[in-house]
Amino acid sequence: MNQELKKQILFLKDIQKGLTENEFTIFLQPKVDTVTNKIIGAEALIRWVKPDGIMIYPNDFIPVFEKNGSIVELDYYVYQKTFEYINERIKRGKAVVPISMNVSRLHLEDARLIDYIKTLIKKYQVPSELLEFEITESIFIDNIDFAGRMIDEMKELGISISIDDFGSGYSSLNILKRLPIDILKLDKALLDDYDITENGPIIIESIIHMADRMSIKVICEGVETKTQVEFLQKNGCRYVQGYYFSKPVDIAQFNLMLEKNTFNKK
Ligand code: C2E
Ligand code: CA
Ligand code: CA
Repeated sequence: MNQELKKQILFLKDIQKGLTENEFTIFLQPKVDTVTNKIIGAEALIRWVKPDGIMIYPNDFIPVFEKNGSIVELDYYVYQKTFEYINERIKRGKAVVPISMNVSRLHLEDARLIDYIKTLIKKYQVPSELLEFEITESIFIDNIDFAGRMIDEMKELGISISIDDFGSGYSSLNILKRLPIDILKLDKALLDDYDITENGPIIIESIIHMADRMSIKVICEGVETKTQVEFLQKNGCRYVQGYYFSKPVDIAQFNLMLEKNTFNKK
């Protein structure tokens, strides 16, 4: 057996153990209204925390889950943890904000998805306005009809839908024309090089303006600097998610932030 294969098998065994021993957990990254400096929501992001405290990031293990198909189960796990979290907060009379969850390419083709979500809503009694699902731009492009049916069903349940990584690839305006999208998440890449050519700012400004006219909310991801926040505000985008305000944090830390709920950004 070659070394690479041996390594992969060991990694898979490690993942299996991690799953049975509950080493996978969700982190939450706040989404912030830059006008009020308050948290308006969060994104649930999976983390693998090994017993020795070492954290493994999704880019290192999600490709393995995608390859063997178990990304669907992993996503279900994330959804369940997210619902559990919201339910717990509501039961304790604590503040809650809408939380978004990621939908993987394979998940979109999984016939159980809507039923599973319905089961979770019933079990955890979570109001649908607290739920959002993020679908990556590139997934839409290959599966627009299928995605359309699924989105219609989600919308019937009152759940919001966002296009993730918008502007990272071949953004199809067709998606916006045909599907009832609620939120556009502008990709970090748009910000990284917005000032390389004079077209950069024009593109961002136009997307924001277009979305606004279609009553689609816009949030920009990967915001790391004050200059970026100011640029976005100037161009009509007040909602951001990024390290400038906070990295993804564990649930306990997120709850503390939510209780305080103001960022001292001058
Ligand atoms: P994503 O959905 O685009 O999530 C945003 C990623 O950007 C997160 O990386 C987040 O930590 C990172 N990020 C946020 N703000 C900043 C910033 O200001 N600067 C920089 N450089 N990065 C920032 P993370 O958590 O490592 O996740 C990477 C990707 O893995 C996600 O990208 C998503 O595609 C996938 N992923 C994460 N959790 C899940 C999950 O539960 N299910 C599925 N299917 N995919 C997931
Ligand atoms: Ca996402
Ligand atoms: Ca994204």
